[in-house]
Amino acid sequence: MNLKKSLKPIKNKLQHKNRLYHTIRRAYTHLSELNNEEILDYYNVGSLKELKAHIEHIKAILKKQTEDYEEKLAELDSCFCVDSRGDFKYLYEDKKEALKQIEYSMRIKGVKLTLYACPFHCGWHLSKT
Ligand SMILES: [Zn+2]
Repeated sequence: MNLKKSLKPIKNKLQHKNRLYHTIRRAYTHLSELNNEEILDYYNVGSLKELKAHIEHIKAILKKQTEDYEEKLAELDSCFCVDSRGDFKYLYEDKKEALKQIEYSMRIKGVKLTLYACPFHCGWHLSKT
């Protein structure tokens, strides 16, 4: 039996284990001086497995925050037109959709809306007349 070969899985496991600690030390500079046990202590977890779960949890939160942020960016990306109350105006990228809304508003609410092109050339907006 090749001893070197049989030790490989264990070696990989150890490397993987140390990689997580290494990543944590790099990502969180305030933890860079801590040893492995101190890191577990810091996160108030007893094992690497728990630490991993904890990290996944944090990652999920960060991912959610990023997604929310990107959603806001996408909103801002459309245009900067605001209505009289200072809210961002709904942007119709499709003129047909805007015309449908005019028709709908007239028929259901009896409100006459006018179509105009977004000054930032992003699409169309509707305004009350
Ligand atoms: Zn606009």
